Amino acid sequence: MKLSHRMQNVRGEGAFEVLVRARQLEAQGRSVVHMEIGEPDFPTAPNIIAAGKRALDEGWTKYGPTQGDPELRQAIAEHISATRGISVGPDRVVVTPGAKPILFFSMLALLEHGDEVLYPNPGFPIYESTIHYAGATPVPLPLVEERGFSLDLDQFRKNLSDRTRMIILCSPQNPTGGTIHEADIRAVAEMIRDRDVIVLSDEIYSRIWFDEKPFSIASIDGMFEKTIILDGFSKTYSMTGWRIGYGVMPKWIADAVCLLMVNSVSHTASFTQRAAIEALRGPQEAVGKMVAEFARRRDVIVEGFNRIPGFRCARPGGAFYAFPNITATGISSTELANRILQEAGVACLSGTSFGKYGEGYLRFSYATALDQIQVALERIEKLIKRG
Ligand code: PLP
Repeated sequence: MKLSHRMQNVRGEGAFEVLVRARQLEAQGRSVVHMEIGEPDFPTAPNIIAAGKRALDEGWTKYGPTQGDPELRQAIAEHISATRGISVGPDRVVVTPGAKPILFFSMLALLEHGDEVLYPNPGFPIYESTIHYAGATPVPLPLVEERGFSLDLDQFRKNLSDRTRMIILCSPQNPTGGTIHEADIRAVAEMIRDRDVIVLSDEIYSRIWFDEKPFSIASIDGMFEKTIILDGFSKTYSMTGWRIGYGVMPKWIADAVCLLMVNSVSHTASFTQRAAIEALRGPQEAVGKMVAEFARRRDVIVEGFNRIPGFRCARPGGAFYAFPNITATGISSTELANRILQEAGVACLSGTSFGKYGEGYLRFSYATALDQIQVALERIEKLIKRG
């Protein structure tokens, strides 16, 4: 017996693998600062938790509509219309258990063998893995550190071909924390306007930004008809474990995604969706506080890394990741990430966990308390100075 051919290039996520190794060290009595996992270290806000509990008491414990709770889809449509400056109805919204299934289902629904998908590299590892699983060909789009990890437009132009069927954009980004400049997104829109290409715009970090407000390609005239917006509750509302996200897309794609939903998970948990209505419509102070705290940590971590010999760290514009360039240490990313875990007790990820262009970088999630970040910086500095 063997696995299907389709499984050949399906990969996991480095973050979960490093977490296991870090926990093993802790079980041996070692102290580890966790900077590997991409989830906010804040609790879900009490009003959202209360709405979830209320929903359970009210009996939101049964099957529900595949596309999602109509009231939640309405709230999402209003939120997307207001924040992206477009007019979206609830028929375009599909609610999913986490935002990840939007990647999975839309690629399965749209891609054919031989199609090419342009995707950011370094990028969220699930992109490349799912493109392979869908039978298409991943075409990496390098990011430019000197431009705050925005796109390399010349390379983008070169990589665009008659076989390009999908383009993945992510801003603010995982793993770099970079934001794609509005001018670059406009340039991309011009390049694909007359092409038969769908944009998968991963906007999961759209509310976590510090300097330059992220710009959605869907806001450009005529582009929403070609765009799937992926967004959700995991990061903005610290709801990673509730498993709730959504996609907003042209109706014909929404119908196909719903068919794949009904063939797999049926729908997103009913009570979770009631809590998500509260997240969108209730008070937003917790989001503002969290983002302000991330900004404070960002400043500390960038300054700290830039003091370490051989490290050079660009100032991330959003999300909660720092992506220092470590080429001047002369050590490969994988080796340095391993040594930082084993010898310094700090869990981080090799840039190569996010694709081949991640060589020369490490990813640190600063979704951890400031005093822990300071401990991590001291430990890494000591390790590097020791040689
Ligand atoms: N997109 C990016 C870029 C992410 O970093 C993540 C989570 O790490 C997701 C999508 C998926 O989010 P969710 O936990 O809602 O499935």
